[in-house]
Amino acid sequence: MNILDLELKELEKIIKEAGQPGFRAKQIFGWVAKGDTETESMRNVPKSFWESLPELRAELPEIEQTQRSKDGTVKCLLRMKDGKAVEAVFMKYKYGNSVCISSQAGCRMGCAFCASGMNGLERDLTAGEMYGEILAMEKATGEKISHLVVMGTGEPFDNYENLSKFIRIMNDPSGKNLGMRNITVSTCGLIPVIDRFGDDFPQVNLAISLHAADSEERSEIMPVNRAYPLADLIEACRRYTEKTGRRITFEYTLIHGVNDDRGHLDKLVSLLHGMLCHVNLIPLNAVKEKGFVPGTRERAEEFRDALEKRGIPATVRRELGSDIDAACGQLRLKN
Ligand code: SF4
Repeated sequence: MNILDLELKELEKIIKEAGQPGFRAKQIFGWVAKGDTETESMRNVPKSFWESLPELRAELPEIEQTQRSKDGTVKCLLRMKDGKAVEAVFMKYKYGNSVCISSQAGCRMGCAFCASGMNGLERDLTAGEMYGEILAMEKATGEKISHLVVMGTGEPFDNYENLSKFIRIMNDPSGKNLGMRNITVSTCGLIPVIDRFGDDFPQVNLAISLHAADSEERSEIMPVNRAYPLADLIEACRRYTEKTGRRITFEYTLIHGVNDDRGHLDKLVSLLHGMLCHVNLIPLNAVKEKGFVPGTRERAEEFRDALEKRGIPATVRRELGSDIDAACGQLRLKN
């Protein structure tokens, strides 16, 4: 039984059922959050406790490969107990340290420009495996994280139960104590879950991978759009902002000749005009197996200026880790 998979109340229950005092749960939760996951390093928990619960341990993924960029970005290939591999990325910002984690091994959404989904979905990650990614990245970098982004391999809303549990564990004051507002979850647009997420976690940031402002064009590069068309997605986003009062981030990756000309920009402006949102423009990290050419940074800046002029806040994402396998899924694909 992996301690990282348990919420505090679940851990407490297991401990009490073994005839041990419930307060040990908080102690263990605190140690684990600090990265002290070995039983010997939890100094105020006696050996006899662990002997009475031999199956209760904290399991971290193995750090199989580490790439370090000159700009401080660190990317790791992490191997789960059953051999499945995922990626996680550590990034340094002015406001703190952020980790981008994977929510699934593989992905079944099939976005045309993405390396992560190339071999389909292998399996969902558990809440504890996602937590393990955070602890492994803190171990690999020697740094503590303050912000968390669920934007790596996988569609988080396709693994919603585990994602929800993971967020609750991250937010627990006895453990990591990460503020809900320091957590961002990104989806390609699973509408029913967007509605649920707004009810369950109104304080957590929501990002939508948009990448096209025309429904037909979006279906070409994001098959999810055939099930949940753009107009319905935007409706769901409006419901979300009305309900939560929170701004949505739209991620727009510029792909040369696919979504980066004047016409695309005009469609994007009219789609988002008047919405409580922010647009994050991302020059594509090219994946050679996919054959797409990145839109230029200059074009991204043109998009930003035009959006801003129309009252839609926009930024061009700083390129981090461009000297390592920065595109999501690349490192995993190689291995
Ligand atoms: S972009 Fe995200 S949702 Fe689309 S295939 Fe890649 S991991 Fe899956």
